[in-house]
Amino acid sequence: MSLWDKYGTIQGRLDNVKKLINRDPLGVEFDDIMGRTRGRIGNREIILAGTNNYLGLTFDEDCMAAAKDAIDAHGTGTTGSRVANGTYTEHVELERALADHFGMPSCIVFSTGYQTNLAAISGLTNADDIIFMDADAHACIIDGTRLSEASTIRFRHNSPEDLDKRMSRVKEKKGEFFVIIEGLYSMFGDIAPIDEFLDVTHKHGGYLYIDEAHSYGVFGETGCGLAEAQGVMDRVDFIAGTFSKSLASIGGFCVSKHPEFEIARKVMRPYLFTASPTPSNVSAALAAVGKINSNYGNSLRQNIWDRATQLHKGLADLGYDLCAEPSPVIAARRPNEVICAMEWNWLLENGLYVNLAVPPGTPQSSSLLRISLSAAHTEDDVNQIIQKFAELKKVQPQLMENLMKLAG
Ligand code: PMP
Repeated sequence: MSLWDKYGTIQGRLDNVKKLINRDPLGVEFDDIMGRTRGRIGNREIILAGTNNYLGLTFDEDCMAAAKDAIDAHGTGTTGSRVANGTYTEHVELERALADHFGMPSCIVFSTGYQTNLAAISGLTNADDIIFMDADAHACIIDGTRLSEASTIRFRHNSPEDLDKRMSRVKEKKGEFFVIIEGLYSMFGDIAPIDEFLDVTHKHGGYLYIDEAHSYGVFGETGCGLAEAQGVMDRVDFIAGTFSKSLASIGGFCVSKHPEFEIARKVMRPYLFTASPTPSNVSAALAAVGKINSNYGNSLRQNIWDRATQLHKGLADLGYDLCAEPSPVIAARRPNEVICAMEWNWLLENGLYVNLAVPPGTPQSSSLLRISLSAAHTEDDVNQIIQKFAELKKVQPQLMENLMKLAG
């Protein structure tokens, strides 16, 4: 027995795939990122369609200038936690801007989206509470529940009825009920019926927490996310998000309609015991919030939704089995992870980067070719993406033949 025995399964899966495609599918290295939608590997230009750069703001001139100015003004790092080493003006400005954007009294900013969920979920619940978590919750929500002392009950994905049943089954309620869902689910690209979840949660006297990591910026009249789009934002207790997608930076946030949330920053360990986000990260995100909540943001949203409709139709017409209705995340189900990896690799070698999404990172143990669109994609880019998927259809028999040969 050794420390490394437990890696046998993952090593075996990886070796299997590497034999077929001559590449580590979990370790793609770009030699250059040339902009919002183009990268380079060797001398091949690649269309980037798996970056979560939903609004394309990573190369926005104002966001870049804000980050550079912040470095000039306050340096490259914060060197520690806000509790131990102090809060920068950037942190305060961003928390105010996000609270204003959501029209909520309190906002706390964290160092990553992952830590946001760890901190908020573990900090807001204690041993007497019960967390009800959607079965398809992201890994960092699951990890947040592991860090929490509360017990956790999973309910069927996107099923307010199942949640209702499970909440009703609790005979003796010692503490609080804390319900966690997401807005846009990152793998299938399906969305939650938030109003129904609100009804059930509040009927049982619980709090609703929504991770809008993939929906902030792209849904809603002002880009606040799915709760805004569904007209229920004022009823939601907590909304969490990340800076790493539409906000084109690194960090995360949680806003709340409860002013009491402010005190939680004194107890949340993934907030207390880690370095605060850097002035440049925070300033880039602040500039992005301004863009999202503006006419320019509306035009970016218009574009990404037009592209989503175009791509969804194009892939559906080709006969791909798509996981959900049009949204900035469009995923095609493939028969298994080996075929999926071969197809993913063929796309990459033919100039298109999408995400290879396989278990355990996917719901229902599915293997997916996952596309995340950007407002920076043009109509022509999307036509090229559709064209690559059309060519992939044609070479699928050849790929299968290669697979059979290699399998002996
Ligand atoms: N929540 C969800 C739903 C996510 O998909 C992710 C990451 N993709 C996160 C939180 C974590 O965000 P970050 O990568 O910015 O830490």
